Amino acid sequence: MDLKTHKDVVYSQVAKAIEKAARRPNDVTIVAVTKTVDIQTTAQLIDLGVTDFAENRVDKFLAKHQALKDRPVRWHFIGSLQRRKVKEIINDIDYFHALDSVKLAKEIDKRADHPIKCFLQVNISQEESKHGFLVSEIDQALNEIAALSKIELVGLMTMAPLKASNEEINRIFLTASQLRQTLAQANRKRMPFTELSMGMSNDYPIAIKNGATYVRIGTAFFK
Ligand SMILES: *Cc1c(COP(=O)(O)O)cnc(C)c1O
Repeated sequence: MDLKTHKDVVYSQVAKAIEKAARRPNDVTIVAVTKTVDIQTTAQLIDLGVTDFAENRVDKFLAKHQALKDRPVRWHFIGSLQRRKVKEIINDIDYFHALDSVKLAKEIDKRADHPIKCFLQVNISQEESKHGFLVSEIDQALNEIAALSKIELVGLMTMAPLKASNEEINRIFLTASQLRQTLAQANRKRMPFTELSMGMSNDYPIAIKNGATYVRIGTAFFK
């Protein structure tokens, strides 16, 4: 299949999942994860109407952002970010999906020249290999992040384990959704927690069913 066909399939599958979940079409933003493709392919996706793009490596983000900065798209950074690299990208991204430590939040706060929309990454499955806060660590983290005026916590981001069953994925996404609601109800300053970043090529229908507002889709666009 060519790129346009892949893109059409992704968009129609997402629309179907939204309808099945009785949600509104605008509730879910498709973020195209272009980490495996070049600038030219990314530009083709922009021409096809894709509006949101994600990268997970600082060097690749910088190259694409530089080449495509005149195009009207939003940039998401979804990879774990080393503190020493924060200053290289933080003012050029629209959303940061991988806020996984208070130390990183402090560095972002120091380097940002405007409030940065961040997703708190949460490790629901408690996999050792995964980044993100354990649920039990969140309260303390929020108490510390509350002092940082350049951090805006728009939502939660989570990932299901690679080999989880659909049932297990469903359970993880439901837990994230409930946690997001609780955090939103707390109504803290600069912490609206209205958004939920979850769902990748293999599990985005389950994520949409459970309230995802941003799905991060890579492989399905290209294979
Ligand atoms: C690569 C990546 C994705 C996209 O994964 P696919 O399975 O290719 O859709 C989503 N989120 C993060 C954090 C990633 O690193």
